Amino acid sequence: MKKVKFINHYRWRAYPPSLNADLPAHTVDCPECGQRISLPRLKRGQEAHCPRCGHEIVDVGKNPYIAPLAYATASLILMVFVYSMTFVTVTLAGITSILSLPSMMKQLIVSDFGFLAEVMFVLTFGSPLVFLLFCLYVYLALLFDKVFPGLSYATRTLVRLRHFIMVDVFFISTLVAYIKLSSVAEVSLGAAFYLMLALALMLIRTSVSISEHWVYYKINQILGRNAIEAPSEERVCCSRCLYFREKTEATCGVCGADLYHRRPKSLSMSTAFLVAAVLLYIPANLLPIMISSNPTVVQANTIFNGIVYMWEEGDKLIAAIIFSASILVPGAKIVLLIVLNLSAHYGLPANSKTMLKIYHFTDSVGKWSMIDIFVIIILMSSFHSYMARVVPGQAAVYFCLVVILTMLSAYFFDPRLLWDKSRYSKTITDRPSENVSDTQYTYD
Ligand SMILES: [Zn+2]
Ligand SMILES: [Zn+2]
Repeated sequence: MKKVKFINHYRWRAYPPSLNADLPAHTVDCPECGQRISLPRLKRGQEAHCPRCGHEIVDVGKNPYIAPLAYATASLILMVFVYSMTFVTVTLAGITSILSLPSMMKQLIVSDFGFLAEVMFVLTFGSPLVFLLFCLYVYLALLFDKVFPGLSYATRTLVRLRHFIMVDVFFISTLVAYIKLSSVAEVSLGAAFYLMLALALMLIRTSVSISEHWVYYKINQILGRNAIEAPSEERVCCSRCLYFREKTEATCGVCGADLYHRRPKSLSMSTAFLVAAVLLYIPANLLPIMISSNPTVVQANTIFNGIVYMWEEGDKLIAAIIFSASILVPGAKIVLLIVLNLSAHYGLPANSKTMLKIYHFTDSVGKWSMIDIFVIIILMSSFHSYMARVVPGQAAVYFCLVVILTMLSAYFFDPRLLWDKSRYSKTITDRPSENVSDTQYTYD
């Protein structure tokens, strides 16, 4: 068993006993590489990382009770303004459209593109809203030391929703659409656009301020239970909350997630989603993704045609952004997921740490593929008159599905399988001197 390397960047101060943030010393299995780690007692401002793969196990923030509440409240207030104020004003051929985010979604619904409206609604409004409300719910319970119903469920949901918040992607998409629009129409960005940048940054702050391992410990403390159990042959470390539970439990008694040593059917589920993504990637690229029309001409563009057209028209920057988001990122993600799945089956082409970096890369870049879809949604809302009209082609739906399926494929892939497969893993585990810092700092 290894001692953990931990970083101390905050001096201990006297806080009221009710706001004690200490996490007692205990043992966890790293959810990324499976390494068993013995964590020392952690206080405010201390974080612990896995000595083998570097994964952050827990970060008891400087203000673990107040910071998430403050960030979530600020985000909710920003959301009210972002969703009620003018987002963008477009004037073309004497017709002015004043667009807010709800009016853009309405436009999609009345034009019979309900699926895209749902995608936009879920990723830019529904997920962040539910995430923030659950965040307030959980942290108010922790702050006031009160038992609220469904605290574990709320924590589990908000942790999962973090992957489905795409306000930042929508913001960048608006910039791309703005450059594209301003060559043909008069465009002015509204207050909601600028506030959206603040909202995107605040949502990221809220998201990183939540340390679920610590939160689950505190929830169980409020419920009068101790989440910490010693590891043994009969116990398994929950992959979500990282506390040891009896193997006989179907769902984890601490967080309520399914209890397993390695995600069951990880490779077959991941491969199935990947195959579906590869199949849909074909119509997504061959069918038109955007159809634009004016009284004299109707033009249907596939993803690639559209990029070539923009490049030739001189919009090289937008062409490069759309190429990266729509072809490079999903293509690379599919190839890397195939490499990861094959590696977990047949052995690794590189060491486990490099493979884990690839896994994190595929997991983090995926959402940026949505840029093209959001650009089309913005263009469509701006050009919906007889003089100029933009509608999404069939490929838009397939493309959305490719993005969602690759996200699911990465989600179901259990990164510990890479370490299990690695022929180096045994040697590294047996060499405790490597990668491990025994330096410990205590502030009492
Ligand atoms: Zn690890
Ligand atoms: Zn659990």
